[in-house]
Amino acid sequence: MIYPYRIEQWKKRFRPFGVVIKCILFLLILLIIFLLASNRMTPEKRLQILRETQVPEWINVQLIDVDGASRRGEELQDVQDIVIHYVANPGATAQNNRDFFNSAASNVSSHFVIGLDGEIIQCIPLNEKCSASNWRNLDSISIEVCHPDESGQFNDASYQSLVRLTAWLCDLCGLKNDHIIRHYDITGKMCPLYYVEHPEAWEQFRRDVKSTRGFF
Ligand SMILES: [Zn+2]
Repeated sequence: MIYPYRIEQWKKRFRPFGVVIKCILFLLILLIIFLLASNRMTPEKRLQILRETQVPEWINVQLIDVDGASRRGEELQDVQDIVIHYVANPGATAQNNRDFFNSAASNVSSHFVIGLDGEIIQCIPLNEKCSASNWRNLDSISIEVCHPDESGQFNDASYQSLVRLTAWLCDLCGLKNDHIIRHYDITGKMCPLYYVEHPEAWEQFRRDVKSTRGFF
């Protein structure tokens, strides 16, 4: 049995340590808040990174011309989301889509197109607006993906490239996984069709991206 007077003695003895521990905890919390605040990526910092980043060798850079429609040459305001699309043209290649973006007939574009062999073509610089995601063109990066048939489902090669590219972009921009969205989430458009009709496959895609990433 512990007598009450013993407890009082212990309290007296350890009281100064209690104050020290509280001070240390307080300082630790301040330090964590400071580190989190300094690590938070501001729009300016993000855009600077996008301006200066050299894309990896697994991306084929074929920028389209600045024509005032498909590519306006305007800088993004920020990158809040990575937007996934499907090309809605079964069997078309990444090169077909990129060349269409570059033609006079087009007033649309996306930063990247992923082809049926998993090839990735970049059409718009990372720090510029594309013309794919309506009013979110000003603060998002878009990826269009080719598909073999009307279902809109991506084949394995395209899927693996999509996971790789999305993970790389999220890491680059310091975005958490819930900032990977569908065109559908912006406008309600059935794009990318398969992931609108199969929300469980969409969640699996986001999990696959997450598992290829480090900290986030
Ligand atoms: Zn779309």
